[in-house]
Amino acid sequence: MPDLPLPLDFRRAVVTGGAGFLGSHLCEALLDAGVEVVCLDSFLTGTPANVAHLMEHPGFHLRRCDITEYVHVPGPVDLVLHFASPASPVDYLKLPLETLKVGATGTWHALGLAKEKQARFVLASTSETYGDPQVHPQPETYWGHVNPVGPRGVYDESKRYAEALTTAYRTTHGVDTAIVRIFNTYGPRMRAADGRAIPTFIRQALAGEPVTVAGDGEQTRSICYVSDLVAGILQLAASGHSGPMNIGNPWELSVKAIAQDVIAAAGSDSPIEFVGRPVDDPQVRRPDTTLARSVLGWEPRVSWADGLARTVQWFRDELAAAAQEEAHSSATTSGTTSRTLDLREPSEAVPPVA
Ligand code: NAD
Repeated sequence: MPDLPLPLDFRRAVVTGGAGFLGSHLCEALLDAGVEVVCLDSFLTGTPANVAHLMEHPGFHLRRCDITEYVHVPGPVDLVLHFASPASPVDYLKLPLETLKVGATGTWHALGLAKEKQARFVLASTSETYGDPQVHPQPETYWGHVNPVGPRGVYDESKRYAEALTTAYRTTHGVDTAIVRIFNTYGPRMRAADGRAIPTFIRQALAGEPVTVAGDGEQTRSICYVSDLVAGILQLAASGHSGPMNIGNPWELSVKAIAQDVIAAAGSDSPIEFVGRPVDDPQVRRPDTTLARSVLGWEPRVSWADGLARTVQWFRDELAAAAQEEAHSSATTSGTTSRTLDLREPSEAVPPVA
């Protein structure tokens, strides 16, 4: 349970992308804080399994919907958390138009919902808006170094557009908006095949396969455990601050060091294999969290060793459960298991329903 600003002064929240990795943890934390939750998700990159444990909760309502289509939520809403978007490089490179559309049309709809309900609105933006940064660490005042026509441009520009739109709704319509720039986050419910470094390394280490590190592995990342991130986001929501605000762990380590730590935490003897570096892969990444510290008093609390141990244990449990299900031939008719550990590539994911 994250360290929340309790009691949260919200009664009913809408979480778009609520069946995704971060969204599902947000839904859980909101329910724990006594807030009713309407979770809207198309299951494009998320899965109902991520929120299966919340289905019995009387305050939880899951609705399959594509936020880029017309969206109506009956009843009062006083908080909209707009988290719907493919987020991992593997996902947004396979889903470039969907990524741009959810950042553009999806954000129009989510903001329209907040305006109609007079609700507080929080946009999940990203450190990717800084691109391959030339300022280090990155403060919110840095405008970024983004290649709009490179492969990552679909994600980066989708979020930059969403930030501009959010700002325009604030200035034009007076909607009470906030923008959070999320830095790399990890934890339980990441998809093993989503292409992000930590779940990929864990999957490879647990399988005894080579752990594939891009380039020479000297590029850095700053990684935040999910419960810390969720606490920061909900504190921002409760604060009334407009952002943009960086939320992430300022502790920076090389990708090679991450791989070595994962191998050790998994008790594996996997070798490290150096592979080609993706186009426009950022060389460094570290949030300047001065604003979050001064406005919210927020700081990450979970150590890398502790967060990694919890995440490795979760993947281990999921793999064991999936193997057990397989052995008992209880796979679903589509050939995938009902477990959260989702090894599907995005192209095989459940398509959105209009
Ligand atoms: P995720 O892929 O696990 O979750 C995204 C969710 O959005 C999925 O459940 C997906 O099905 C849903 N979705 C996508 N398009 C939709 C649409 N059109 N309508 C309704 N639902 C839709 O990714 P995540 O890591 O949980 O990321 C959540 C948000 O946080 C994203 O907006 C992402 O850009 C942002 N973010 C995440 C990180 C991170 O480290 N995880 C870092 C920066 C920003």
